Amino acid sequence: MALTGLEIYKQLPKKNCKECGQPTCLAFAMQLAAGKASLEACPYVSDAAKEFLGAASAPPIALVKIGTGEKELSIGNETVLFRHDKRFEHPTGIAIEVYDDMSAEEIAAKVDAINKLVFDRVGQIHEVDLVAVVNRSGDAGKFVEAVKAVQGATKYPLILISSDVNAMGQALEVAAAGKPLVYAATAENYEAMTELAKKYQVPLAVKGSNLNELAELVEKVTALGWKELVIDSGAREVAQALGDLTQIRRKALKEKFRPFGYPAIAFASNPENPLQEAIDAGVYIAKYAGIVVISSADPAVVLPLITLRLNIYTDPQKPIAVEAKIYEIGNPGPDAPVFITTNFSLTYFCVAGDVEASRVPAYVIPIDTDGISVLTAWAAGKYSPEKIAEDLKNLGIKDKINHNKIIIPGHVAVLSGKLAELSGFEVIVGPRESSGIPSFLKQRWN
Ligand code: SF4
Repeated sequence: MALTGLEIYKQLPKKNCKECGQPTCLAFAMQLAAGKASLEACPYVSDAAKEFLGAASAPPIALVKIGTGEKELSIGNETVLFRHDKRFEHPTGIAIEVYDDMSAEEIAAKVDAINKLVFDRVGQIHEVDLVAVVNRSGDAGKFVEAVKAVQGATKYPLILISSDVNAMGQALEVAAAGKPLVYAATAENYEAMTELAKKYQVPLAVKGSNLNELAELVEKVTALGWKELVIDSGAREVAQALGDLTQIRRKALKEKFRPFGYPAIAFASNPENPLQEAIDAGVYIAKYAGIVVISSADPAVVLPLITLRLNIYTDPQKPIAVEAKIYEIGNPGPDAPVFITTNFSLTYFCVAGDVEASRVPAYVIPIDTDGISVLTAWAAGKYSPEKIAEDLKNLGIKDKINHNKIIIPGHVAVLSGKLAELSGFEVIVGPRESSGIPSFLKQRWN
């Protein structure tokens, strides 16, 4: 039976040190009882308390790691149904299929295309996460050759997809060191697949033909002693798959239903219809796949999915920020204009983009406002004349220019007098929106 918050609280160290992200140990205990926190967040819990708390302290959805090294993918460990309740912890891993009945040249070309799916967006690098090698030929030898070829050509972790235990065993002999995800244990093969997963210490996907069978299979696999699992209800039609993914998440979080306490995998592969594939994959990223598998390596399919994932998995409590430093746009010289903005990524990239569009080389300086936009930062006192003057001095912009002018956003014209007094710069009030920068530079800067 689940423990109450007070029962959990009695086992906590009661230091009220806030290191777990909660204001007090009691608040942390309540979060644990509600399944919204993991005991690992408190570094001071004794081993005896960990043992006592047992299942109550386990995260409602297990953390599973696939791969090794810098491309290791973590999924699961989710604690909320809705992002606004707290945040989603681990972005959906995007996997792209490669088939073992393709020729060696086709496999090399597809893996090359996957490797090139790297996008720079709001100052961050985004890419896919996994390559799924599919035993479409049904031949163990071809599967092993394809696994070897793919793992030699990419840095991404693999998903090995085959229902043939013999083929999977041979593939693991060559690929187990990279900690691939084995897909999948089914009602027909779960005992042998579980043995392989235990032998090679790799995560295992469990696939049912519906939710009831999935729950039964997971219990059988865990009874065999393996708990590093990813789960699949077997649904491939989008409405059914969405319903199953939602049920899995709800039952894991709201009822602490242990068989569903693992990240889920969903398949959107549709080589005949890439648009439908992108739409279905978007649905699964939104709710609630830990991994989504697609067939296309076309950037037109993958980039929208990566953008959607970025939107959903961005922590609403932590705005995306760029480093506060002097950015040079278009190789500016000492007579170039200097734009002052904030380090909220979207604000910075709007300003930088519009400066670039003006074709006038310029310096852009985002002040560190903890990633907050101009008006919000000003209202919060983080974009004050004192702060801007101090940052300009520390960054040393005066050493780079032969004039004494800075341009501030039109929305904070009110800062100009005090900022001029504190910084010694002539403060020019720029346009209210960054889209006005090209015409502003044409009219006001020569
Ligand atoms: S980290 Fe541990 S000791 Fe500190 S407040 Fe949280 S629960 Fe209490």
